[in-house]
Amino acid sequence: TTRVMESLVLSRRPLRLPVTLAHTSYDVVIGTNLISRAGALLAPVLPQKKVVIITDENVAPRYLEQLEAALAETGITSRSLRVPAGEQTKCLEMYQKLTDNILEHGIERRTSIVALGGGVVGDLAGFVAATTLRGLPFVQIPTTLLSQVDSSVGGKTGINTRWGKNLLGAFHQPLCVLADVSTLATLPRRELVAGYAEIVKSGLIGDEALFAWCEEHGAAVLDQDPEALAMAVQQACAFKARVVAADEREQQKSNGRALLNLGHTFGHALEAELGYDGRLLHGEAVSIGLNLAFALSVRLGLCPRADMERVNRHLEALGMPAHIRDLSYTFHTQALMDHMQRDKKMQDGRLSFVLAHGIGQAFTTRDVPATAVREVLEADGS
Ligand code: NAD
Ligand code: MG
Repeated sequence: TTRVMESLVLSRRPLRLPVTLAHTSYDVVIGTNLISRAGALLAPVLPQKKVVIITDENVAPRYLEQLEAALAETGITSRSLRVPAGEQTKCLEMYQKLTDNILEHGIERRTSIVALGGGVVGDLAGFVAATTLRGLPFVQIPTTLLSQVDSSVGGKTGINTRWGKNLLGAFHQPLCVLADVSTLATLPRRELVAGYAEIVKSGLIGDEALFAWCEEHGAAVLDQDPEALAMAVQQACAFKARVVAADEREQQKSNGRALLNLGHTFGHALEAELGYDGRLLHGEAVSIGLNLAFALSVRLGLCPRADMERVNRHLEALGMPAHIRDLSYTFHTQALMDHMQRDKKMQDGRLSFVLAHGIGQAFTTRDVPATAVREVLEADGS
């Protein structure tokens, strides 16, 4: 890894990570200052030199002008649409506003939708692209760490409904992803930490070397060191691309994409209990969820205690949320249990979990006794 890191520093050339799927393949381009080179990077992949950029109110003032200027350099014309920042934006009403506007302006089939922003913009714009005229070409320019390592890779798009998160959606693969780590310089630290939790997750699922890299370089990532960020994004994207390539539409019952939910069953319960109101970011909930998944694995005698302690130590060393008791809210064990039972990943009424035999050895199981889950939650502070 040191050698790769040096070459990144020396060359300053973006790194291209191919994502190879059954019917298509595309590159995730990772590097610094990519937005200012977007015209040159995108011209070869766009079917038409015309795009509609969808972005949010935090990202637009920082990066929109730069993107439009860079596109114009290679003759790509653009129009932009802004949505409010935040999870509430991933809704039917906003979807309707965007598609109305796009149709009103008479979009052509080869015009691309470009998502410039975090996962909210990516999921919403992606769903607009997936459905408008039965599918418009789509480009992701993720600007949060979470969206660079997670939501921009894999083709899942969608919006929330009153019945739950991400319940309306489609698989729609992008033509290209530009992960410009320079944009992370303006990201609030909490958001950076939340994205970092998903990187740690990738290591814990199936890449022990990535977790070991995190132990060594995690502090540099959170200090927004551009080389460390680029390395982290590259490794996490490579991991997700491998998983997605093997199970594009989450059809494998065990393993496959389901493994990406390590820490998420617990995490979602915490988020749901707070009503998804932003007090706890998704990645913060996942950070605690990772610890809980290892604690449950240890309690069931499936994982050495030393591995759980290593996970704990890493999260605590970086000041990441690690335990329910670290939060300043009270959680009732039964309420958390109820959320887990309602989780959409539940099948035939049994609690399904991603557990681990050790660091980098996650697996799915549907045989988890509720009492063990309850004990783990109580021991952690609920
Ligand atoms: P987000 O898009 O809400 O971004 C977080 C905040 O950072 C927002 O306020 C945003 O305006 C701001 N922001 C974005 N880029 C910035 C920058 N460079 N500088 C300063 N501020 C910036 O949240 P997120 O964490 O990126 O994404 C979360 C969403 O992603 C959720 O809706 C989740 O469901 C979705 N998601 C989707 C997938 C998938 O596979 N499609 C995977 C994981 C998560
Ligand atoms: Mg997640």
